[in-house]
Amino acid sequence: MAMNDNKHKNGSDGSGSPFRNPIIIFIVISVAATLLLNLLLSAMTAQRRTEIKYNEFIKMLDKGEVSEVVITSDRITIYGLPQTEQSEVSTPSVMLFGIDATEALSEASRPIYYTGYIPDDELLGKLNELGVEYSTPVENSSPIVNFLLTWVLPFAFMYLMIMLFMRFMSKRMGGGGIMGIGQSQAKMYNVEDKTGITFADVAGQEEAKESLNEIVDFLHHPAKYTAIGAKQPRGALLVGPPGTGKTLLAKAVAGEANVPFFSLSGSEFVEMFVGVGASRVRDLFKQASSKAPCIIFIDEIDAIGKSRDAQMMSNDEREQTLNQLLSEMDGFDSSKGLVVLAATNRPEILDKALLRPGRFDRRIIVEKPDLKGREDILRVHIKNVKTDSTVDLHEMALATSGAAGADLANMVNEAALRAVRFGRTAVNQEDLMDSVEVIIAGKEKKDRILSPEEKRIVSFHEVGHALATALQKNTQPVQKITIVPRTMGALGYTMQMPDEEEKYLNDRDELLDQITVFLAGRAAEELVFNKMTTGASNDIERATELARRMITMFGMSERFGLVGLESIQNKYLDGRSVANCSEETKTEIDREIIKIMKERYEIAKQLLIDNRDALDEIAEYLIRKETITGDEFMTIFRRVKENREKPEENE
Ligand code: ADP
Ligand code: MG
Ligand code: ZN
Repeated sequence: MAMNDNKHKNGSDGSGSPFRNPIIIFIVISVAATLLLNLLLSAMTAQRRTEIKYNEFIKMLDKGEVSEVVITSDRITIYGLPQTEQSEVSTPSVMLFGIDATEALSEASRPIYYTGYIPDDELLGKLNELGVEYSTPVENSSPIVNFLLTWVLPFAFMYLMIMLFMRFMSKRMGGGGIMGIGQSQAKMYNVEDKTGITFADVAGQEEAKESLNEIVDFLHHPAKYTAIGAKQPRGALLVGPPGTGKTLLAKAVAGEANVPFFSLSGSEFVEMFVGVGASRVRDLFKQASSKAPCIIFIDEIDAIGKSRDAQMMSNDEREQTLNQLLSEMDGFDSSKGLVVLAATNRPEILDKALLRPGRFDRRIIVEKPDLKGREDILRVHIKNVKTDSTVDLHEMALATSGAAGADLANMVNEAALRAVRFGRTAVNQEDLMDSVEVIIAGKEKKDRILSPEEKRIVSFHEVGHALATALQKNTQPVQKITIVPRTMGALGYTMQMPDEEEKYLNDRDELLDQITVFLAGRAAEELVFNKMTTGASNDIERATELARRMITMFGMSERFGLVGLESIQNKYLDGRSVANCSEETKTEIDREIIKIMKERYEIAKQLLIDNRDALDEIAEYLIRKETITGDEFMTIFRRVKENREKPEENE
């Protein structure tokens, strides 16, 4: 079956006939199958029946050669006497739908004849007199029923199949499908009459909340604004990295204003069929207008709002959807209290027309939270969890620099799961700090056993990083070093000591020191084992990236000075950058990067050579313990240093 289907499709694709359409193929196949089936059935029955004249039938009756007569409205079927020997017409072996029909068709081995029906008053009397059985079948008697059974029923069946098939197709294509083009169906968007979320559920986004407060007020008292002649913003765009609470904020606006929340995701808009997205937009705005005041929220608006000229291929569907959205944004009556919120993490690719006044002219930045913000977010989420007295959210906030709200929510949940795993009824600080590590570095991989040799290398590598930090900053460099492999690929892992105050500016020397720290892992390997391993690849990547930015974006190289050689393309996602310079300049940039890396590597190596005693001692200790704290690290480091200085003092 499947193979046949394929053949059909291949053949028709090549020729470009109307058979390309799967539905037409399906209909053609069903009609052909019905015809074939009918032909086969009638052929089989015809083979065994012989037509005779009516008077021949009467003659047979008189001769007593008839055992049974079946009378229908258009014919009389005559069964002869059973024959002892096998009839000359050999019964073919017939398989119908996998059932052996041979026996049923052969009907013992009575010869069967038929003749047309002639109204004959004497016939019944004659049959009675001769004692011949006669009957008229209840079913199958009228030609209409016959016709229905052989022709209409199969088609009805096929029609049903086609309907099922189409339903299946439309489901696969999502939404309206083949039949429903332009027809909006139930689940195009979500409507929540009450989101149940308020600004209290969103922490660490004070500026964003402030901007949105005006919208809330407008939804509460639209008259206040219209009375003075002020026009409210029709739309606001929430911009920020993933997981910072954009969706949450939009819901909170609806919750605070106590209005219905219409939401949909931009990617759901864009369909395979041209015109579907546009009709959905139209429908959404119509529905929402009738329920105003309310909020329409379009998540991931970049899926529809992509700039129309910046595309490699034009996408009619998206363009139509976008045009419809633009015209709806202009069209709706904002005095009724309809506000459109949208969220994106790629504002730079949005079409300019979306951003002009009267559309999404307000931009609300939802950044990753700072230290205090993280602590507040943790507090919001820890409310739902039972905790004991050891919990210190400040410490956890310190350790989670760079985490977004969604990460923090996830960490709290991981901690609760861990507490359950250990059979406790409340979450403690250890659960929280462990879950931070799990989110950052992955779970401990107990089944990956490092060989003793590998363990030594990883240990020296990690201590190399830590020592370089300690020597350059002269403070405790790390919170924890471990050489237990993690699921996310790290063989060893150094947890940086969090800065009590967050830094928003870095000077050139700090950045160079950072590169030195990155390279110190490899430097330790080379120094101690005189080997290069693959373990440093991530360090090298990050160091190179940093060096490149210093040159191309921060204006920190003497060679190029203050020229912007690269710019960041998508600030809120991976922060990839694009070059703004000629090929020759790129080559020179690469040379400059190589120079910086070589210099910093030598510096890292020299640092470790000068502190080889500390490196050896701490690394050996780490090999034995597998995990050490920053305090243990500092204790050994200080002791080694003092021992070293004492003899010098004596001299
Ligand atoms: P975004 O839409 O920006 O990608 P979401 O709003 O979907 O992020 O956030 C996902 C989840 O992360 C939320 O449901 C919430 O639990 C948590 N979260 C994110 N930011 C915050 C925040 N500022 N305050 C409290 N919880 C937050
Ligand atoms: Mg979201
Ligand atoms: Zn490393």
